[in-house]
Amino acid sequence: MKEEIQACNNILELIGNTPLIKLNKITQNMKGNYFAKVEAFNPGHSTKDRIALYIIEQAEKSGILKPGDTIIETTSGNTGFSLAMVSIIKGYECILAVSSKSSADKIDMLKTMGAKVYVCPAHVSADDPRSYYEVAKRLHNEHVGSVYINQYFNELNVDAHYYSTGPEIWQQTQGKITHLVACSGTGGTISGTARFLKEKNPNIRIIGIDAYGSVLQKYHQTHEFDQNEIYPYRIEGLGKNLIPSATDFDIIDKFEKVTDESSAHRARELAKTEGLFVGYTSGAAMQGLKQLEEDGEFAEDSNVVVIFPDHGSRYMSKVFNDKWMDEQGFFDSETAEIQKVEYV
Ligand code: PMP
Repeated sequence: MKEEIQACNNILELIGNTPLIKLNKITQNMKGNYFAKVEAFNPGHSTKDRIALYIIEQAEKSGILKPGDTIIETTSGNTGFSLAMVSIIKGYECILAVSSKSSADKIDMLKTMGAKVYVCPAHVSADDPRSYYEVAKRLHNEHVGSVYINQYFNELNVDAHYYSTGPEIWQQTQGKITHLVACSGTGGTISGTARFLKEKNPNIRIIGIDAYGSVLQKYHQTHEFDQNEIYPYRIEGLGKNLIPSATDFDIIDKFEKVTDESSAHRARELAKTEGLFVGYTSGAAMQGLKQLEEDGEFAEDSNVVVIFPDHGSRYMSKVFNDKWMDEQGFFDSETAEIQKVEYV
């Protein structure tokens, strides 16, 4: 028999099929069984690889996107990285309009992945021609054969999770999942995953994690947009100051809000207890789990799946940096523990 070389054809074949990992120490005194879907195992280190690949491949199938065409999006975060990665392999130009608030590290990372980056002033309103929304729209109009991903208002963002994250969790839990807990930003992850799971079993509870300073929880409760809910917060990628059409509010049973400080400490605790080096919103999701458990959401026989969206390496100058934590005043809390380094 001829020996075959065992290699995947390119990095994109590694997107999805992320592991489900049991949480042990951090959930020790909590009722129920807890499993983390660790999205950092995607090749671009976040859940956004799934939507980048899916949306681009759908555009190819429908004939919108042809070789050499352009992908445009407004993000300096995970979606930008994933789009740049997929664009390289598939031979597209990737243009990202980002806010001037974005860290130099993030901009360098996107450039490293071959993206063309437009840095737009952060202080202007969304309808100002210099805002990253308007710049992206203009570039889209100027580039014949370009696709504007527009993840907050793109149903394909939801579908990507309906066709991948949902079935994976159903299969990995052998249908025994009782609760899904996921961060909500665009809402694509929670809405698409929940749609698949609820079709299989409508009794599965779907809980979204939201940030203090975001409108999502209040909108879910009242169906009204309350400007008073909005104020600045530190966690990136969680919550929103607008209502994304990619969020299916009807499928979500409940939103739980978490603070910047408690989420940061939970992210650090996940590394120390489970060896899981995951991002700030994973800490937020973990904090949400703790609060929900204290409120009696889970029973002894609950099988709770929590989604951890990205990798810790993206937060080295923030949550995993003691100076940053101290500057935020996060070391005032009782849970704080600064680990000293020994210099020899
Ligand atoms: N965590 C991080 C780090 C993210 O970048 C995002 C995306 N904004 C989310 C969570 C939320 O995922 P979704 O947009 O699918 O709701």
